[in-house]
Amino acid sequence: MPTTERTEQVSSHHDLPVHEVVLLLETDPAAGLSEPQARDRRSRFGPNTLPQTRSAGPLLRLLRQLHHPLIYVLLVSGVVTLVLGERVDSTVIFGVVVVNMIVGFVQESRAEAALDALRAMVRTEAKVIRDGTQRTVPSADLVPGDLVVVEAGDRVPADLRLVRPAELAVDESALTGESLPVTKDEAVLPPATAVADRHNMLHSGTLVTSGTGVGIAVATGAETELGEIHRLVGSADSLETPLTRKLAWFSKVLTVVILALAAVSFGVGVARGESPVEMFTAAVALAVGAIPEGLPAAITITLAIGVARMARRQAVIRRLPAVETLGGTTVICTDKTGTLTENQMTVCAVWTPGGSYEVSGAGYAADGAVLSEEGTVMTAEAAPAPLRSTLLAGAACNDAALTSRDGRVEVVGDPTEGAMLVLARKAALAGVPARVATIPFSSERQYMATLHEDTGSYVVFAKGAVERILGLCTAQLGPDGVTRPLDAAAVQREAETLAAQGLRVLATAMTRVGDCGAFTEDALRGTLVFTGLQAMLDPPRPAAAAAVRSCRDAGIAVKMITGDHAATATAIARRLGLLDVGGGVLTGAELAALRDEEFPAAIERTAVFARVSPEQKLRLVEALQARGDVVAMTGDGVNDAPALRQADIGVAMGKSGTEVAKEAGDMVLTDDDFATIEAAVEEGRGVFDNLTKFIVWTLPTNMAEGLVILAAILVGSALPILPTQILWINMTTAVALGLMLAFEPKERGIMLRAPRDPHRALLTRGLMLRIGLVSALLVGGSWWMFQWELGAGASLEQARTAALNLFVMVELFYLFSCRSLTRSMWRIGLFSNRWILGGVTFQILGQLAITYVPVMQRLFETAPIGTDTWLRVLGVALLASLVVAIDKRLRREIL
Ligand code: ATP
Repeated sequence: MPTTERTEQVSSHHDLPVHEVVLLLETDPAAGLSEPQARDRRSRFGPNTLPQTRSAGPLLRLLRQLHHPLIYVLLVSGVVTLVLGERVDSTVIFGVVVVNMIVGFVQESRAEAALDALRAMVRTEAKVIRDGTQRTVPSADLVPGDLVVVEAGDRVPADLRLVRPAELAVDESALTGESLPVTKDEAVLPPATAVADRHNMLHSGTLVTSGTGVGIAVATGAETELGEIHRLVGSADSLETPLTRKLAWFSKVLTVVILALAAVSFGVGVARGESPVEMFTAAVALAVGAIPEGLPAAITITLAIGVARMARRQAVIRRLPAVETLGGTTVICTDKTGTLTENQMTVCAVWTPGGSYEVSGAGYAADGAVLSEEGTVMTAEAAPAPLRSTLLAGAACNDAALTSRDGRVEVVGDPTEGAMLVLARKAALAGVPARVATIPFSSERQYMATLHEDTGSYVVFAKGAVERILGLCTAQLGPDGVTRPLDAAAVQREAETLAAQGLRVLATAMTRVGDCGAFTEDALRGTLVFTGLQAMLDPPRPAAAAAVRSCRDAGIAVKMITGDHAATATAIARRLGLLDVGGGVLTGAELAALRDEEFPAAIERTAVFARVSPEQKLRLVEALQARGDVVAMTGDGVNDAPALRQADIGVAMGKSGTEVAKEAGDMVLTDDDFATIEAAVEEGRGVFDNLTKFIVWTLPTNMAEGLVILAAILVGSALPILPTQILWINMTTAVALGLMLAFEPKERGIMLRAPRDPHRALLTRGLMLRIGLVSALLVGGSWWMFQWELGAGASLEQARTAALNLFVMVELFYLFSCRSLTRSMWRIGLFSNRWILGGVTFQILGQLAITYVPVMQRLFETAPIGTDTWLRVLGVALLASLVVAIDKRLRREIL
């Protein structure tokens, strides 16, 4: 896209009257753009998404594949062999470099494309007026000039100049850090107004907390204020993970070691009077042999397969390192509502001063009734004043709506509010007075209040957390409709009793006011009259208890962090088994009172954090991380973003989460379900296992190849295997055999192990010993084979062909053993990974080709071998796998 068109978008619009903005952006303030106009602008301005800061173009990314110390060694070897006139050798070496480059490039592009596609899955929609009608479009499709409609709960999808705000308040903390909602109007502002004070603008990424509004999109995508910040702070999303960093370090060390060995062997040979050309070929053989060429591709592919497997289980990975980190998670901090529970609220009890009521019927359908203690069906009309007012407050102080789809009632908006509407329907409440102002609900405020006009006077309704509402009341409504002094202790007692049953309890209150003058939080304090309590059931998710248990078996602590009341949270936690192992409960207030030095111990013993604010989540993550924990933290609100970013795995909610939270998360749960986190951890462990298996499988070959060559040089023997043959082994076996390990199913009992220590070395001592053992078997076997064949009168080519086939066969048998690091290959079943069987067939055909096809014989300097040689090859390979099997039996605990 031409940059001039991009800059066209960048201009301030807060200092222009609406009609000028309309002219400037060639739009219509009532009908919006037409579809053709929108399409045209979409192709000019591009999608309304924040760009992935992709650091390089395709050519550069292709060339970047060469930027690897091990590849440098190959390149130098290729050039020198070319200079020495070894055309075939240098062609094969360069061929390997090119193949590597292409495989690396394709893998990287595919992994990036897959991540992009997954990111696209979690994008949101926006309401827009085009051709005079309102419709919903993916927010990526918004263009400058679009007339965008926003309402409470929406994330602003682009930078908008307001045309028609209606009591609009916006939480701009994502952009400005200001945590209190800002009210908006359309008045023109001076040009120098700072972003935070542009009250006639709505900025992309901010959250509408109340009211509605219509605005003209003046900037989209990267040109928005959010895009600006993204550009400043957004580090390029790279495909680097802790593991790839470790491996990069490993390859650097390996390169130095290989070069040193090659130089020494070259020096020793030449000093002994061998020809420098031959010695150089030998040094090249050593170098190319010891380089694990297939490693980088295998890692990206294994991670990519992990991403796909997680997506199938509803966990969308947004950043590749998460795949790997997930496996090492030691603590999961999870929300309650919607994650551990269904977030399908049903009011099942109502308590008022003077009467308690039971409510029948489950879900959002209105078939059910409000029953008095005597079993009388109560209607709003005939109800005592406190019940009627409680129903009315719940229904009036409410932004949700009930719709019906396919005969089923659904809630649009907050399920808590939906439940209150359903209750009102069950009691046949007829209508609510018109609303004139709102103090919106927020997690910090924990209540909501609305002002209504009612036959000439005004009435305030409020609902929210019991202690917050009681804090605003000094009186309560008596059964006779007369106001009495508040008996807060009695209300609290009742609320505790209901909460202890796992019910979410909200209090309602109201008051009549003479005018609509001061409708603020301060003005409300002390003026409200308590009317009653509504207690709602939010059943735990069916899979949650099992997932919590599975996490515990896997050594992962689960901590519930909720905005809900401690008693409700405790009851639900108990039902889910969260408190089984003796964890305690702490409230946000208690947390705030803790001294810094008390904090770590307190969070360790606590399993339930109740009435916690989003800011406290950040402090919790930091404290856990300071103890060395690897923390997965869930979140959905705009204010959760800092904690999500700080956590090792930020888990955002796909259904109920704000776009801001999703952008901050490393992983998005498309079903919001806690069990999905557990599934993702399990997959993460599987990915890490498969990577380890590949490394344990591939390294012995490289070590053995290097050592065989080194031995040949040191004793002055002919090379048992040539550089080109080594490249053949390394490349074909990596692709046909090693890569198949990436498809290996997860091992049984993977969630019964303790989490991996993030600081632990990649390979345990046990695994290193196994690598050493297999290397020794390969060195011994191939050396013996080579010398035996020569002694038996075979040609040099035939002896080398035998050694080459021996290497491949030992690797092939060893591959089956590497399918599990601890269990014997017979136990996991020979046929449980069909990919491996395909790869093995392919490899065997390859070996027959390199041994018997004349072109291949010329290229790789091989010669046909007889059945007796094959039998010896297979014999050694079998023997080697027997030794590995015994080693496995003797040392099970090597992980
Ligand atoms: P989590 O998802 O972390 O478990 P939560 O949904 O329980 O959190 P919040 O949404 O922050 O927590 O709600 C905190 C408290 O605010 C609730 O316990 C309830 O008392 C009150 N509350 C929740 N929703 C509303 C609402 N729409 N209006 C008024 N008060 C509300």
